[in-house]
Amino acid sequence: MCKPDAVERGLVGEIVARFERKGLTLVAAELKTADRALAEAHYDEHRDKPFFGELVDFLTRSPVLAMVVEGPADNTFSICRTLIGKTSVDDAQPGSIRGDFATTTNENLVHGSDSHESAQREIDLWFPNL
Ligand code: GDP
Repeated sequence: MCKPDAVERGLVGEIVARFERKGLTLVAAELKTADRALAEAHYDEHRDKPFFGELVDFLTRSPVLAMVVEGPADNTFSICRTLIGKTSVDDAQPGSIRGDFATTTNENLVHGSDSHESAQREIDLWFPNL
């Protein structure tokens, strides 16, 4: 997902291009503004964190580009996470999306599912009709 900061900064083309150049295929995409219920469900695992409210405020403040990206094997989530880069701005390597374009951990441009199971859960949330 290109998060609100990515859409606001005009980085969607750059980000999608990186997945495509890698050899992954975009099989669904939708620009939409998440309501709080969707954002809270998306970040359910962080519900008890002190920054949960801030996270939901951020995700709902303007449109995101939700995407389903497909690859040839069942490790697509892992390939995407490598392209995206580490969560913390201090650790995100140059060459990754976050390493090249993000200057804060809170607004780090992209979300990527962290397992096959979370990819399925998140596809069901964002693309209920797919
Ligand atoms: P990800 O899977 O790499 O996105 O990382 P996590 O699932 O651990 O965290 C989800 C998102 O929460 C991150 O991508 C950040 O945007 C945000 N985040 C992480 N730590 C903090 C924090 O301390 N404060 C705030 N406001 N957001 C944070």
